[in-house]
Amino acid sequence: MKTINIFRAAGLAALALAGSGSIASAQLKVVATTPDLASLANEIGGSAVSVTALAKPTEDPHFVDAKPSHVVTLNRADVLIEGGAELELGWLPPLLENSRNAKIGAGAPGRVVASQGIRLIEIPTSFDRSKGDIHSMGNPHFLIDPLNAKIVAANIAQHFAQVDPKNAASYRSNLAKFNSTVDSKLAEWQRMLAPYRGAKIITYHKDFGYLGSRFGLQIVENLEPKPGISPSPAHLAQVIGVMKSTGARVILVQPFQNRRTAETVARQAGGIVLDVSQQPGGRPNTPTYFAMMDNIVRSIATSLGAKG
Ligand SMILES: [Zn+2]
Repeated sequence: MKTINIFRAAGLAALALAGSGSIASAQLKVVATTPDLASLANEIGGSAVSVTALAKPTEDPHFVDAKPSHVVTLNRADVLIEGGAELELGWLPPLLENSRNAKIGAGAPGRVVASQGIRLIEIPTSFDRSKGDIHSMGNPHFLIDPLNAKIVAANIAQHFAQVDPKNAASYRSNLAKFNSTVDSKLAEWQRMLAPYRGAKIITYHKDFGYLGSRFGLQIVENLEPKPGISPSPAHLAQVIGVMKSTGARVILVQPFQNRRTAETVARQAGGIVLDVSQQPGGRPNTPTYFAMMDNIVRSIATSLGAKG
């Protein structure tokens, strides 16, 4: 396969560079698969780490455009943070194989699997990959529950301390600070969404379940009939019916999802499309995890509060 050859070539080039006597940086080189994980890594690592995200904020984390440069980035990494629960199953394994970096191999201290310790929702009781469902281990979009972000941050801090013991105290204190920020922001977000407890919303993909559970919003339908399966006319007709019968008006759409499909459904059901992103930088002025969550909560509250 042509793509694999490109990755191999990039891997070899990276090895050659690694052996060419470049001066090692004092900062821990951290690679995160997605910008939300990268933001948490920055919160915990502070100035002791330099963080690179592989996925762009506007890319679907399930289907990232894998590039030869990713192999080079992974080859030089001290730590890799992945979402896990098969979020990156479609693109990360060949990159990792070609990066040939034992420091971030499975089970190594430099490998952080964010889903470890998370109580996943929507775990299928029976699973048939031939049906195309890409949430085979349960729902991997858990970071939009701020309490899950605390679990992931603790996991990251523990691995950073293991790989870089001289800065362990700093990672511990950054974690404490992160946790107290989550606690105060969570209280604020709960106050903002409290008036809409029980409100019914629609999402494109099954990507807001953890937010719904944390803040008491009911996600009554998804435009995708199953995670990763494109909407069919029959399924969309069903969604329109559900919107009309339940009074759900707001359809959440992320930057990489088909907004036009959502607009068609909204028009026919008398609803509206709300642009949101679960990645820092996916919407304007949302450089960090906290700014992203502020944006999500504020836009949902505003759209639910608007008269239809
Ligand atoms: Zn998904």
